[in-house]
Amino acid sequence: MGKILDRLKDQKVLVSDGAWGTFLHQKGLSADECPESWNLTRAEDVYQIALSYVEAGADIILTNSFGGSPSKLEPYGLKEQTYAINKAAGEISRKAAGQDGLVLGSVGPTGKMLFMGEVTEEELLKGFGEQCRGLADGGVDGILIETMSDMEESVLAIRAARANTTLDVLCTYTFEKTQSGEYRTLMGTSVPDAVSSAMTAGADVIGANCGNGTAGMIDIVRVIREMDGSVPVLVQANAGLPVYEYGKTVFPEGPEEMASQVQGLVEAGANIVGGCCGTTPEHIRLMARLAKS
Ligand SMILES: [Zn+2]
Repeated sequence: MGKILDRLKDQKVLVSDGAWGTFLHQKGLSADECPESWNLTRAEDVYQIALSYVEAGADIILTNSFGGSPSKLEPYGLKEQTYAINKAAGEISRKAAGQDGLVLGSVGPTGKMLFMGEVTEEELLKGFGEQCRGLADGGVDGILIETMSDMEESVLAIRAARANTTLDVLCTYTFEKTQSGEYRTLMGTSVPDAVSSAMTAGADVIGANCGNGTAGMIDIVRVIREMDGSVPVLVQANAGLPVYEYGKTVFPEGPEEMASQVQGLVEAGANIVGGCCGTTPEHIRLMARLAKS
C-alpha cells in the first residue's frame, strides 16, 4: 500500500487540485509551445502554479506532465527528454507540496490510436514506463492516469505504472452523457466496463475527470458504487459544462456553486475530490474548507 491509500485510511475525503493549463497560458505559454517543456525552462512558473493549490488547501497536487509521454513530446522534438521532463515535473510539485503533502504524477492519453495502428502496444508500454519512472524518481506518491477514453491504452498505462514503480496507481476516465442518459467514454465504453477494466489491470483508485460538471459526476460515482462498495473513487469535475460565448469557451460554475455540490459527491461515495477544466485555486479553497468541516 502506497502513501495515497494509506492517507485515505485516516482521512475520509481528500481534496486534490484544479486546472493548470489556463495558468500556464496566463504566464505566457503560447499555443504552439509544449506545456511540459516548462518543467525544464520555466520551473519557477510551474512551481508557483503548484504552490497556489497547496496554499488553497489541497491535500493532493498533480504534476505538469499530462502530455509527458514520448508520443506527445515527439512533435516538439522533446521525445529524448521524456525522463528528464517528467522527473522535473515530480520534483517541482514535491517541492511545492513539502514532505507531508501528496503528489500525483499526471499521465494523459498519447493521442495515438492503437486500433488505427498508429502505435503498438509495446511502444505504449515502453513510453508510459519511461514517463512513470521519471515521475517516480522526481518524488511523486502515486501515478494518476487521467482523461482516458480508450480502454486498451488505459490498461497499458496502468500496467506500465505497475511494472515501473511501486507507487499507488489511480485511473480516471472521461465520460459523456449519451442520448439515452447513460455515461460512456468517447470510444463508447460504459462506466462499469471502464471500472472493471481498470481494476483488473491493477488500478488502486478509479474515477472520472473532465467532460462533466459536478452533477454529472454524482451520477457516475453512484454507478461505480453500485458495482464496488470499497474501491477509492477520485473525481475531478470541470467547472460545469462548457458554453461558448463570443468565440471563447467559458466554464459556468463559480467556486461557491461548485463547492456547494461537493457534499453530494461525497455522499455518493467519492473519496478524493478536485477540479478539472475551468477550476481555480478559489474553487479548491472552498472545496477544501467544506471537506474539512
Ligand atoms: Zn478537463
